Amino acid sequence: MNAKQIIIFLGAPGSGKGALSRLCVSSFGWAQLSTGNLCRKHVAEGTELGKQIDFAMKSGTLVPDEVIIEIGTRWIDDEACKSESLILDGFPRTVVQARGVLDFLVKKYPYLRVVIIELRVPDHEIIERLSSRLICTDKSCQAVFSSRIENLMPKTQGICDLCSSVLFRREDDSSDVIRGRLATYHQHCGNLTAFYKNAGYVVHVIDGNRGSAEVFENFLRHVSD
Ligand SMILES: [Zn+2]
Repeated sequence: MNAKQIIIFLGAPGSGKGALSRLCVSSFGWAQLSTGNLCRKHVAEGTELGKQIDFAMKSGTLVPDEVIIEIGTRWIDDEACKSESLILDGFPRTVVQARGVLDFLVKKYPYLRVVIIELRVPDHEIIERLSSRLICTDKSCQAVFSSRIENLMPKTQGICDLCSSVLFRREDDSSDVIRGRLATYHQHCGNLTAFYKNAGYVVHVIDGNRGSAEVFENFLRHVSD
């Protein structure tokens, strides 16, 4: 059986796409593509793709479309045989990427169900979340905490509640870089939504400024498990 459910998340960096994706993975065993994590992996390994990505991330601009499409479709090829549902977290990010990946998917999977979800969070809330964000250094954990938002603080300062590893701040989470990333996001989000609607897809909007359990519950109304 070649039926596939593809879930595409739209949402600014820090809107909670990653947390929602992880809930899907732990609840249903779905595979999750995080281009952010894949990009950081390429950067850490110092590949040729990684060097282009590193420059873009540090200057707050977008990684070139063809690089992202290459990374994304390669991952889908590898993972599709293992999971009925695939989550695309923050990818595709531009109309060119969306057209590239949808063409690829439609050709590959005759029984394709595409669910597009936009997580909406106000900009000031995003800036507050990201500039205080702390991430676990353990690669298999990557739990996210906050140094300022009360119910997200770690129990011991600088230490992960789940695995006791040290927490760190990502270099691209300083507020100037965040503003750059938000501007880039807003510029592309409207175009992307228009593209999906013209192509006959529905874009479901979910309020991302709520507790993670409520966001998850609202999300589940739009997918089949
Ligand atoms: Zn941890």
